Amino acid sequence: MAQDDVFKKIISHCKEYGFVFPSSEVYDGLGAVYDYGQYGVELKNNIRKYWWDSMTLLNDNVVGIDSAIFMHPTVWKASGHVDAFNDPLIDNKDSKKRYRADVLVEDYLAKIDEKINKEVEKAAKRFGAAFDEAQFRSTNARTLEQQARRDAVHTRFAKALNDADLEELRQIILDAEIVCPISGTRNWTEVRQFNLMFATEMGSTADGAMRVYLRPETAQGIFVNFLNVQKTGRMKIPFGIAQTGKAFRNEIVARQFIFRMREFEQMEMQYFVRPGEEMEWFNKWKAARLAWHQALGLGDAKYRYHDHDKLAHYANAATDIEYEMPFGFKEVEGIHSRTDFDLGQHEKYSGKKMQYFDPELGESYTPYVIETSIGLDRMFLSIISGSYAEETLANGESRVVLKLPPALAPVKLAVLPLVKKDGLPEKAGEIVRMLRFDFRCQYDEKDSIGKRYRRQDAIGTPYCITIDHDTLSDDRVTIRFRDTMEQERAPISMLNDIIAEKVSMKNLLKKINY
Ligand code: ATP
Repeated sequence: MAQDDVFKKIISHCKEYGFVFPSSEVYDGLGAVYDYGQYGVELKNNIRKYWWDSMTLLNDNVVGIDSAIFMHPTVWKASGHVDAFNDPLIDNKDSKKRYRADVLVEDYLAKIDEKINKEVEKAAKRFGAAFDEAQFRSTNARTLEQQARRDAVHTRFAKALNDADLEELRQIILDAEIVCPISGTRNWTEVRQFNLMFATEMGSTADGAMRVYLRPETAQGIFVNFLNVQKTGRMKIPFGIAQTGKAFRNEIVARQFIFRMREFEQMEMQYFVRPGEEMEWFNKWKAARLAWHQALGLGDAKYRYHDHDKLAHYANAATDIEYEMPFGFKEVEGIHSRTDFDLGQHEKYSGKKMQYFDPELGESYTPYVIETSIGLDRMFLSIISGSYAEETLANGESRVVLKLPPALAPVKLAVLPLVKKDGLPEKAGEIVRMLRFDFRCQYDEKDSIGKRYRRQDAIGTPYCITIDHDTLSDDRVTIRFRDTMEQERAPISMLNDIIAEKVSMKNLLKKINY
């Protein structure tokens, strides 16, 4: 199936099964704003918990906060967001569609990469075991020509971004003959900068309302609380502060479902370190974060690092963790070495010291910061995409199943009486009442058992417990496993232990090898 179709199916599955709805749908929705439904909210809460626990339980020097969405407007002056939180936009005059100029070029580069990789794959098949990929890449004429074209555009692109040279960015789009996907033409406007922050007024206009912003990232709430936490928590460097919460960006282009939203949620951690030790910590967090993703079991090959072409002027290292979405490898998380830029700026703009006295060194300094920043909604999309499967069964029927990591599944088990009589519903009710303190359970007695299994597969429930007539005499039930569809008989008294072992967040956390 084409990847475009898979993505469309995932979007409609999310809606049909209560994971994600367009916001204000009865009014035809609101661009790039979404609501989470009854299963979506559970999955989202579980992802957030997985992140939060991995940060604050597995690291005894990382603590959490919850800062306000509104912040003093000077925060955004100091952070650089008022002056420089811009995206370069470009319009196609024929389709009247708006694009991010940098994304157009990135997509163009990705397409060349894809072509090269296809050539390599084809050759690998042709040559079999004797295939030498490095040799092929360095000698095959067509591949070399494509690689040279890619490298040339890439070098110009990186320089244009670093110099904030909008004319050159436009020229690259023209020279590379990039066309609008809608109109197919190259009739482009100039490239302009567009600030992504939403502004609103605080207080009544009569007494001089203050212009405030909806935060475009949660990180600044951590920086301005750095000393509060350090002092009240008696924290010693190195230490980290973690936070999850809503962020808002007036994105220019928002066409990829919950990948790029105007209201979204971030999970960020700022790790404060001694100046000079930042690269060591950058590399440690880079590895730790990839391990966190990989522990979910969606397949290690689905992830890759992508080092930034353009480093923010204050950063001395930055990398993204990308996940292979149905529309290609895309950033899910950023890991940035931000030097002492943010604390330094807040010191300058607030006039308050942001320094730490290091008792071991006997001196004060402004700490350096390593940041890990991940979008909860993008993580949600990567997990749904990685879990979605359509399968043909032995009997010729087909099923759609979400093979969610059990610890993250919205519903952990369904309790199903085989028939709606003979005391089976009552027995099933007893089991639900026993298990619901530990697990989110769902009771379902409607339709055939096969249909009920399908409904649970579609929302990713890892275990179904079936109660039949024998259960009444032997106190045993059938456990049916979502992924293999195998069935196993087990005593009711063991259910809690069996399920707990399989769905526990603890076992998932243990897989991360810090
Ligand atoms: P992009 O280049 O895709 O716009 P970014 O580099 O601006 O992203 P950061 O500022 O580093 O993103 O934000 C950190 C994380 O927040 C991203 O890795 C992503 O997961 C998430 N994120 C950023 N913007 C959005 C958005 N509009 N919708 C959903 N998640 C987002």
